[in-house]
Amino acid sequence: MGRPDPNIKYAVLAHLKEHHPGMCRHWFDDIEPLEIAGGTLRLLVRENVQLNYLRRCCTDQFQDAAQAATNRLLAVKFVGEADLASGQPSHSRSAREHPPLHDGAALSPALDDEMILSPDYSFENFIVGPDNRLAHAAAVAVAHSPGRAYNPFFIHAGVGLGKTHLLHAICQNTMRRAPAMRIYYTSCDGFMTRFLESVQAGRMSRFRHRFRNVDLLVVDDIHDLSKRDRTQEEFFHTFNSLYQAGRQIVLSSDAPPNEIPDLEERLVSRFNCGLVARIDRPCYETRVEIVKSKAALRTITLPDDVASYIAARIDSNIRELEGAITKIQSISAVRDAPIDLEIAKEAIGEQTTHNPSQHPTIQQIIDAITKFYDVKLTDLLSKRRHKSIALPRQIGMWLARKHTRYSLEEIGGYFGGRDHTTVMHAIKAVNTRRHDDPTLDHDMSRLEQQLATRPAPPTAQPTAAL
Ligand code: ADP
Ligand code: MG
Repeated sequence: MGRPDPNIKYAVLAHLKEHHPGMCRHWFDDIEPLEIAGGTLRLLVRENVQLNYLRRCCTDQFQDAAQAATNRLLAVKFVGEADLASGQPSHSRSAREHPPLHDGAALSPALDDEMILSPDYSFENFIVGPDNRLAHAAAVAVAHSPGRAYNPFFIHAGVGLGKTHLLHAICQNTMRRAPAMRIYYTSCDGFMTRFLESVQAGRMSRFRHRFRNVDLLVVDDIHDLSKRDRTQEEFFHTFNSLYQAGRQIVLSSDAPPNEIPDLEERLVSRFNCGLVARIDRPCYETRVEIVKSKAALRTITLPDDVASYIAARIDSNIRELEGAITKIQSISAVRDAPIDLEIAKEAIGEQTTHNPSQHPTIQQIIDAITKFYDVKLTDLLSKRRHKSIALPRQIGMWLARKHTRYSLEEIGGYFGGRDHTTVMHAIKAVNTRRHDDPTLDHDMSRLEQQLATRPAPPTAQPTAAL
């Protein structure tokens, strides 16, 4: 049959975009149709992680799209460059660029068969801000010199703040730099399941061989070891064996080592002996960048005011930012209308952030200010210093300081990435002005009253002193 019509690719991608919009990524553009032979469309994918991901997660959708685009009952097969050269499927790149660290390692694939890494979770796609800078820098250092920079490397953060993303990025970057390295990425649950299966099947030596003969062991959500006595014991020995051999260990958790409940003391001290890095909730500016980058990755055009709106409304968890983008995307697709602020408001207007507090959220304060002073959200969070916008912004900061427990730095972050001295100055300025200006005093009382009577579930939370 030979080379397919090059337009087939565009037809396939268009079909995917229409029927599986959430799945589409900008790097799908790099996929090359090679040939249609024996009822199979072969597609070339040059990046190994992408290849693996497409094979495991996207084959059915591509097949549907290929059939719709050609009107033929085609199968789809993703192939890598190594398959072209050798005619053999392969998971690892040529080791020419980077010599293997261990002689025999070149024989074993860098990627375990069961390990799926998301191509989205790369260092390139990770937005760095003040809240994750240390964790990111350390992750890059670990990928550059595994076993030497920080060992073990332990990241902890709340849900949806980028732990898994950084772990995948370390694996992918290491694979690219040192293709012969033996990498094992697993969730803690995966480790536990394999351990219990191996015990039951009497195959412990195979289990130990698998986990103790790697150059880089990455275990996600290690807090799940909590209360698992036998698994903790096994993990302790796995850890020691790798650590003593100078192999890199990377762990993520929802809490620092000494706060993981029921974790044996000897594990706590081992987890603490390398670098422990925390990721905090991202500030407003970082969230705006993340929203923009997620949209670009999915080939979605997002106007600036929509990105600001999403970032201002959702502050708790980045996964929810993505959920918001998906919701907006689907409303726009159903309506066949471009994404705008109206659609964004409809999609997430009712959604409030997770702050079960009797005090307002910063979003509610920002909403109240934009409404009361009739100013645009983008202006309020911008660098503009015109009086008409500077005063409402300062009042917003004042209210946030008085009615929430956010720090000066965090408040600065929400109000367009200003530093804490600007927030301090704003608070002082508002206090002085309020004292001298009865109209301002009246307006502020009304705003405070509005915030106090907003419909929100009351629970206790301390208020910061002004
Ligand atoms: P965790 O493992 O901490 O629960 P994830 O790593 O799964 O969180 O992150 C949730 C989502 O947020 C993922 O889609 C991830 O890509 C995204 N994300 C988190 N932090 C960042 C960041 N700094 N830049 C870009 N995306 C991020
Ligand atoms: Mg995770």
